[in-house]
Amino acid sequence: MAKCVCMIAEFRSGNFRRVSFEVASEGRRVADALGLELCAVAVGSGVAAKAGELGRYGVRKVLVKDDPALEHYLAETHVPVVAEMVSRLDPALILLPASVDGKDLGSRLGAKLRVALVQDVIQIVCEDGKIKAKWPIFAGKCFAWSEWVGDALPVISCRPNVMSCRESDEPVSAQVEMVDVPVPQARSRVKATDFDTTGKVELSEAEIIISGGRGMKEASNYAMLEELAKLLGAAVGASRAAVDSGWRPHSDQVGQTGKVVNPEVYIAVGISGAIQHLAGMGSSKYIVAINKDPDAPIFSKADYGVVEDLFKFIPAFTEEVRKLKSTCS
Ligand SMILES: Cc1cc2nc3c(=O)[nH]c(=O)nc-3n(C[C@H](O)[C@H](O)[C@H](O)COP(=O)(O)OP(=O)(O)OC[C@H]3O[C@@H](n4cnc5c(N)ncnc54)[C@H](O)[C@@H]3O)c2cc1C
Repeated sequence: MAKCVCMIAEFRSGNFRRVSFEVASEGRRVADALGLELCAVAVGSGVAAKAGELGRYGVRKVLVKDDPALEHYLAETHVPVVAEMVSRLDPALILLPASVDGKDLGSRLGAKLRVALVQDVIQIVCEDGKIKAKWPIFAGKCFAWSEWVGDALPVISCRPNVMSCRESDEPVSAQVEMVDVPVPQARSRVKATDFDTTGKVELSEAEIIISGGRGMKEASNYAMLEELAKLLGAAVGASRAAVDSGWRPHSDQVGQTGKVVNPEVYIAVGISGAIQHLAGMGSSKYIVAINKDPDAPIFSKADYGVVEDLFKFIPAFTEEVRKLKSTCS
């Protein structure tokens, strides 16, 4: 088979994660620039029935391994299976999501296939048939560009929520090919998972995030942010100070030791803007800061700033949003 661009799709709880469609769309763009076809590798339990969906994002062919033993990501099972499937495609470039599982898979795959990996990429450029990738370093303070020399195979994990999903208008289904790859016997197993099933917007995939910091004063005050988030279809995040105070779970923490997010709009409420917090949200498209201290560092990063007591501003703002929504509907 001729060389192709290969994307590795991430499948969880019966569906592809949104970032898989972002990576497929980016893969299509890069494949077009290189004059190659876009293929995919998809592994999981129940993935065969959904694999064709990748066609809507420009994937022509998907290699599928559908096995109950691949329900949860485990390095022991996923890495050898994915490595074997990728090798069968003989790719010129491998793309995968820079999610928690994707980063783990990418680094192990890089070592196993002895290829050159760059993680958490936010931009890919093709020049004269060569690939260049841009990625943040020093907690997002600077950016580095990497390019691959000789015939090194580039493996790139793409930061979620940065590359856009480009869905075809026509209902195109990818050609699905089931592959016979043995799944190794795992020595560990996942006994339970703790995914949020309440329908809340996932922080790393949210288009709007409202985060509260130490200025929220206590856990119960987050009800205010939850209410506003519900109206805006947003997710609620937190600074480490709020998480350390026990007001929010660690899964809500944004920053260097929390989640890296890239929403369209990030609203920081009662957050000072420490470098470790900025590391997690500094690449948001628009940053709005609400803080009573006009000298808070967050204002130097914000596109819009409100110098006000959050306990006055948030209820008034929520009311205005509610009115606007009722006149629009
Ligand atoms: C190794 C390391 C890793 C870290 N990782 C992270 C991380 O992942 N994420 C993270 O967030 N932090 C992280 N931190 C902590 C970081 O340095 C800051 O301490 C933290 O971000 C501060 O949180 P904050 O902005 O909520 O609190 P503060 O810095 O205390 O700021 C509270 C803000 O609220 C404002 N405020 C108070 N009351 C009101 C009011 N009524 N109305 C409006 N505004 C008000 C104040 O003016 C102030 O600006 C890390 C630190 C270290 C050393």
